[in-house]
Amino acid sequence: MGKNNKWLDPNKINKRQQDRYCKFCKQKATQVRILKHENICEDCVQRLRSEKKGRYACKGCGKIAPQQLKENNGYCKDCICKICGKADPKFVQQHGFCKECFQLIGTDCKKCGKEAEAQVKRNDGLCDNCAGR
Ligand SMILES: [Zn+2]
Ligand SMILES: [Zn+2]
Ligand SMILES: [Zn+2]
Ligand SMILES: [Zn+2]
Repeated sequence: MGKNNKWLDPNKINKRQQDRYCKFCKQKATQVRILKHENICEDCVQRLRSEKKGRYACKGCGKIAPQQLKENNGYCKDCICKICGKADPKFVQQHGFCKECFQLIGTDCKKCGKEAEAQVKRNDGLCDNCAGR
């Protein structure tokens, strides 16, 4: 899916889509780009992203992903640790895990013990060989 598919474009909408509007400010799909899944216009998306309140926009990175936020206490899946689920936006976005899990995993393969830091991080604790890559 391309990036543009998420938005209704005022210049490209069909008849049925003309009636859609932003659920916050009520701007119409004929006036402004609207995020299809959530019915939120571009202006409101920007506002929500900067507020980062955790209901529509992730408290960590500001991504609009209401379903993920509901499941993860206000954070999108890119901001929570893949292993323990803890929110640690800055660290997780860099490493994929929270600080504690990152240290736990270490740099050695859990299966064969080979030291291969990059591979181990990439494969949740396994080297490329053991991960079957
Ligand atoms: Zn709006
Ligand atoms: Zn996030
Ligand atoms: Zn963790
Ligand atoms: Zn291994």
